[in-house]
Amino acid sequence: MPLFFYTAPFRVLASLSALAGASFIAGLRFAARRPILSCCAFAVSLAVGVGGFGALHPRSQVFGPALWRGDPSARVVALTFDDGPHAVFTPAILDILRQHGVKATFFMVGEQVERHPEIARRVVEEGHAVGNHTYTHPDLITEKPAEIGDEIVRTQEAILRATGVRCSLFRPPYGMRTPLVFRQTKRLGLQVVEWTISSQDWRSPGTDKIVKRVLRRVRPGAILLFHDGRGDRTETVEALPTIIEALTRRGYSFATIPEMAQSP
Ligand SMILES: [Zn+2]
Repeated sequence: MPLFFYTAPFRVLASLSALAGASFIAGLRFAARRPILSCCAFAVSLAVGVGGFGALHPRSQVFGPALWRGDPSARVVALTFDDGPHAVFTPAILDILRQHGVKATFFMVGEQVERHPEIARRVVEEGHAVGNHTYTHPDLITEKPAEIGDEIVRTQEAILRATGVRCSLFRPPYGMRTPLVFRQTKRLGLQVVEWTISSQDWRSPGTDKIVKRVLRRVRPGAILLFHDGRGDRTETVEALPTIIEALTRRGYSFATIPEMAQSP
């Protein structure tokens, strides 16, 4: 017998297959005995699966339209930054973007805008686009309809006061959206924006890992997700020049989300 059959990965694989097979057969026997109960269990699992995908997956259009990429035939990407403005990291990111002549999109948290209105203003003055990312960054799945509306409206007002911009973009915290969220965004005329590739910078995995993850996965039309607040974003600031320079060498140009949304 080949050596492979004695290795640990094979034994784990064989055990898992045996377990899956045994569960499947047990499931079939149960279904034969209790068909109605089994059908209900299947329907519930399906609903939970579809609901979970609909609410959480960045590409899902189940509960409403969400922009998750631009034109896949154009060598253009959009840099997006969530959770700011932050007193240190947002200005550092703005400096890098200015040095490289790159325009990006900042999804701002309302209470942060009220803390740092001058930084929010600088974002707009330097030609970047701004989006709404709620007032306190809650998980909207557990919020009541009135609270969802309140989170969005207070942020619209904070951004308008600080920058003079009436936002037309909304990115829900953690990308989570339900029909109740879409009801509010529709009422307020906001476009929901998700992403193509998360840099996973919120995990603070190390500057190198952020750079490699983005450069390995990037493709034309990608919306890239970074963070400029809610934690130490030193790694994001360090990774950004390398990412911008590598993408420029590969022939990519950079668009804001409104620019990307207009392209076919
Ligand atoms: Zn966020």
